[in-house]
Amino acid sequence: MARVKALVAGNWKMNGVKASKKEVAALAKRLAGTQKPDCDVLICPPATIVSTLKDAAKGSKIAIGGQDCHAKESGAHTGDISAEMLKDAGASHVIVGHSERRADHGETDAAVRAKAEAAHRAGLTAIVCVGETEAERDAGATLKVIRGQLKGSLPDGATAKTTVIAYEPVWAIGTGRTPTPDDVAKVHAAIRKALEARFGAEGTKMRILYGGSVKPANAKELMAVPNVNGALVGGASLKAEDFWGIISAYL
Ligand code: PEP
Repeated sequence: MARVKALVAGNWKMNGVKASKKEVAALAKRLAGTQKPDCDVLICPPATIVSTLKDAAKGSKIAIGGQDCHAKESGAHTGDISAEMLKDAGASHVIVGHSERRADHGETDAAVRAKAEAAHRAGLTAIVCVGETEAERDAGATLKVIRGQLKGSLPDGATAKTTVIAYEPVWAIGTGRTPTPDDVAKVHAAIRKALEARFGAEGTKMRILYGGSVKPANAKELMAVPNVNGALVGGASLKAEDFWGIISAYL
């Protein structure tokens, strides 16, 4: 198994204002004050404060990302934000295809793929989210759903540098429920296999994050699962101390 440096990414969703930069400052202090964790750290706030948080993260190891982007570079798309705009604001990554966007905005695999391509065009790393619903899980369709989402959502030519996969079971997001480590291992192994089959050597190195109710209390166990190369964290990424508790799994 290739050694893959982990990424712990926070998804702030629709939370955060300029004053939230104090959480970034507190996290930067934690990172500076202790032995460097063996992982990269990313925070994806609302687009309105990407540049504010980028400034707050200056001099630290914290990278800043967006939560979504439009497929086009510019144009008549009221309310949308392009990957190039995120890059200009200081982002290095962008989440695409989060289940909340797939559900709330009807984003298809093809739409997600176009967004991932836009991220690559702009020089951003795309964090492409996949995950089954509870009904799909109960029907025993988890792996079929995940394979289909990977096939449809990942651009050709994706590399370990340009692309991160986040496996987020929809039923585990924001619910406090998580799959067992064994279940996570099975899905991550299937994702790894699909990535290797399609992208060869790059597929062996691509990060596969687990997301869904990751907390300080369960991070160590989940991050120890084979082929889990970090976490995508929602609620527990909003407060520096909670997020630090998760990052600490890599100390
Ligand atoms: C998410 O929304 O990406 C997520 C994983 O949320 P939470 O950690 O709150 O379950």
